[in-house]
Amino acid sequence: MMVRFHRHEDGSVSLLGTRERDLDRMRRFFARLYREFGHYRAVMDGSGLLPEDSPIEVLGRFPHTSREDYRDILQPEALSRLSGDRFVCDYSSGSTGRCVLRLATPADELAEQAITARVFRRAGMRGGDTFVCADVGFPEIYDFYFRAARDVGVRRATFLHLNRDYGRSLKPIRGLAPDVFLTLPSLLVRSWPHLRSVWPRRRSPIRSLISMGEPMHPEFRREIAETLGCRVYSFYGTTETGGLAGECDCGAGDHFDPTLIGATIARPEFVDDQTVQGELYLTTWHLRDHPVVKYRVGDVVRVTTRPCGCGEASPRLTVVERTHEGFVLAGMKLRYQTILDALNRVAGDLGLLAITLSDLPESEGHTLMRIDLPDRLAPLERELLDVLRYEIFELDDLYQFGLVRFQLDFHTDEAFDRRKVRRVTDRRRYLGDDSWEDADGSSPDRTPGGL
Ligand SMILES: [Zn+2]
Repeated sequence: MMVRFHRHEDGSVSLLGTRERDLDRMRRFFARLYREFGHYRAVMDGSGLLPEDSPIEVLGRFPHTSREDYRDILQPEALSRLSGDRFVCDYSSGSTGRCVLRLATPADELAEQAITARVFRRAGMRGGDTFVCADVGFPEIYDFYFRAARDVGVRRATFLHLNRDYGRSLKPIRGLAPDVFLTLPSLLVRSWPHLRSVWPRRRSPIRSLISMGEPMHPEFRREIAETLGCRVYSFYGTTETGGLAGECDCGAGDHFDPTLIGATIARPEFVDDQTVQGELYLTTWHLRDHPVVKYRVGDVVRVTTRPCGCGEASPRLTVVERTHEGFVLAGMKLRYQTILDALNRVAGDLGLLAITLSDLPESEGHTLMRIDLPDRLAPLERELLDVLRYEIFELDDLYQFGLVRFQLDFHTDEAFDRRKVRRVTDRRRYLGDDSWEDADGSSPDRTPGGL
């Protein structure tokens, strides 16, 4: 693959295709952006960028797109621009208090589908396979995955809607006997006591387990592979950009095509001459109707163009850490700030709180979220609980499904000394902070997993 790192004037680095047709695609992308996208046109005008300039220079000088830009400007703009057209909506957890929508026209759906099919093929999916997906949330996205899987030749595809009775909701998996199973690590952790004994050790029909949405604990990953006798592959993507990268058999980063997905690394550090690490901004060269430019996804990644043992020439991406303080609940990404902002609608001036996550016995649900608050808020307990239950988009769902329970504990102000309070403490098995440290020490580059 003809790709190279290009260093921009501001010090950031982009991975770019070097063929003339790659540059053409970028040029056409910016020309269309200028012609049809009000916000991006204003951004280009404001930065003195012309669509006929060198596309590499335009990319380099283009300001990044934030989650707020996406939600407050690009998303409503797409709704009015595409009014009267056909599109589907992907909606997600986002990591904000409000839902993030991505509008996908048939053209964009097909472009993303091609990438997804490639990810599935790389993860060992083949013609004739049976494919099963399991999740607690909305099933719509799986309709999309099924189309991608049918492209690969999958014969039968089934969605298992998990609920807090994991044993029962997983039961059909035995009869379905999937070759390929796709789910989220945090759900897999809770389903594991049931799933592990469905088949004799190492004799499950599952050949490939595809994990998406969050990193998977390496020890858990090994246990799954050994118990089921399968390989585990990560699948990296975000709602705003779609799925974009997936692991091969070597398990050393997620392959992606930089001529379709542009990776720009802010404040880069070169690990070696072919490997760079820093905060990831993504440009969706492959999307026509609702694209993003240098979208700040909130991950610090390592990108390498080193040849991979599998023989595929495309570069690979490995998530090193998330830039936002947050956590994942049943596959939903949440930010600390989201919870704080929401509670402040009632509390008014709350500067800090402490969240502790722990596992609940299965009979009681999924996760207990305990929040420590100053005792002056004790009279507002009911109102605060109502905010958690009904006013945070991501939590609302999980609460209704019985997957999270809330507990408020009140403490004196001294207990809230800024230096002492840890904002998020995760005590869940295979998701918690302790088990991470036990298994891997404190090395920051422990995660060969997708999110
Ligand atoms: Zn590879």
